[in-house]
Amino acid sequence: MNLAEYKGVYVFAQQVDNQISSIALELIGKGKDLAKDLGTTVTAVLVGSNVKGLADELGEYGADKVIVVDDPELKDYRTEPYTHAITSVINEFKPDIFLIGATAIGRDLGPRVCARIHTGLTADCTQLDIGDFPLVATPGKEQKHGQLLMTRPAFGGNTIATIACPEFRPQMATVRPGVMQKLDREAGRKAEVIEFNPGFTPDNKYVEILEIVKAVSDVADIMDAKILVSGGRGVGSAENFKLLDDLAEAIGGTVSCSRAVVDSGWKPKDLQVGQTGKTVRPHVYFAIGISGAIQHVAGMEESDIIIAINKDESAPIFDVADYGIVGDLNKIVPMLTEKIKEAKA
Ligand code: FAD
Repeated sequence: MNLAEYKGVYVFAQQVDNQISSIALELIGKGKDLAKDLGTTVTAVLVGSNVKGLADELGEYGADKVIVVDDPELKDYRTEPYTHAITSVINEFKPDIFLIGATAIGRDLGPRVCARIHTGLTADCTQLDIGDFPLVATPGKEQKHGQLLMTRPAFGGNTIATIACPEFRPQMATVRPGVMQKLDREAGRKAEVIEFNPGFTPDNKYVEILEIVKAVSDVADIMDAKILVSGGRGVGSAENFKLLDDLAEAIGGTVSCSRAVVDSGWKPKDLQVGQTGKTVRPHVYFAIGISGAIQHVAGMEESDIIIAINKDESAPIFDVADYGIVGDLNKIVPMLTEKIKEAKA
């Protein structure tokens, strides 16, 4: 493999039902940083059916080029045709770096593509940088510059690993939604649009989609919430979450939770914050009856203001909290709700 042939930062511009997913814009934002360090450009790869019109949005969020793979076979996400589309783009255009969102789609697509291309993939990254590998020069071992350094929690979140892929291209990573920042939209900014279609042959390897049943949820996505009222095992029961519902209603927030709460069956998984849940960065994050395990903190430490309520003054959540209240949540939360209601009246 001639590594010098591979150039540019590419991102998979995930769309569902012809709407660009937020992660695509976050990846363009991060891609711009990486491209600047490498002196190169960011290319978004847009795959779907009748999606060409979405290229403008990708340009306004910072993509320099958009490769559009538009084909009726690509209407809904299916592993085989999407893998064929992305591997064909990689073989044709030879990117140095290829980033994919660690969404349900990206987690299916990324490993397939990298196996077919015969390169490596670091899954679920929380940080990406350009640097030297190995980090420290060692006698007898060539130190390569301008490598993608991919950082992710390892061993159940007990350590942080930085991984590189110095021998193969592209350097591939999946990135957790909500971790990277998208750029401000620049109305009218244009990307160069390149249409590319490798050709698709519907054969029996393609799954036939008979029906798509959408999960109906009346709960807002916790990743979009400005105020999160998050409860842990200390809340005690599903019924007792009423205290948090009342606080959330009074303050205009959304309820979320720790994994202990999901494991206990008190709340659904899509409300879970943390390493195996969602990464959130609201303006205000209430951590109520949550101990502050590293896997939980990994998903909320970027919040602007963290307010912890816990009866144990040595709970690790107080290490990341901006404001801490030591005491019984059953007393404190209703008092807080009353005070907020009074202040609003
Ligand atoms: P606990 O740790 O049991 O804490 C309960 C807290 O409530 C205690 O601090 C206690 O003092 C306080 N409390 C009890 N009663 C009251 C009261 N009346 N008033 C005030 N305070 C009270 N966890 C996540 O949250 N998200 C993840 O994504 C996640 N991913 C994981 C991935 C892996 C690979 C592993 C190994 C673990 C993961 N975990 C995750 C689990 C994590 O390690 C913790 O077990 C979990 O976060 C604990 O949840 P908790 O804080 O609600 O419960």
